[in-house]
Amino acid sequence: MSSNHADRRSALAWLGAGFGATFLTACGSSPAEAKGFKVTYSDAEWKKRLTPAQHYILREEGTERPFTSPLDKEKRKGTFLCAGCGNALYSSETKFDSKTGWPSFYAPLRGAVGTSTDFKLGYPRTEVHCADCGGHLGHVFKDGPKPTGLRYCMNGDAMKFRPA
Ligand SMILES: [Zn+2]
Repeated sequence: MSSNHADRRSALAWLGAGFGATFLTACGSSPAEAKGFKVTYSDAEWKKRLTPAQHYILREEGTERPFTSPLDKEKRKGTFLCAGCGNALYSSETKFDSKTGWPSFYAPLRGAVGTSTDFKLGYPRTEVHCADCGGHLGHVFKDGPKPTGLRYCMNGDAMKFRPA
């Protein structure tokens, strides 16, 4: 009888572990999963691949000084790519002059970016990162123009421009 009880306990413990793993997978928000990007490098490798300015934005979640990026004034047709991995992020079609001094868009390309919440300034902001490498790009605010009403406020140093 007592050995039977022990069996039941270990069976339950085993089941419990199984459920735990299933929950994490379905939930998809464990830190390990959040880091599961398609493109990954160690920080030493990123430092070799990126300029110090690019590394500061993409990997340290920095912010460039406004009106410093030539991409803010870029008016040609084309595509804005992630400076870290080359992922196509924004079309020039959705770019607008927000007068903030940072390149601004009202919508990203489909599936190009992900978001999370940060509290770096003491209040919640929606952080925007590259969906492929996780590199920090900027933030999105709800004071943009039509048709989305969104303003993707990007760091030019986090992007490269490919003319059409
Ligand atoms: Zn990227």
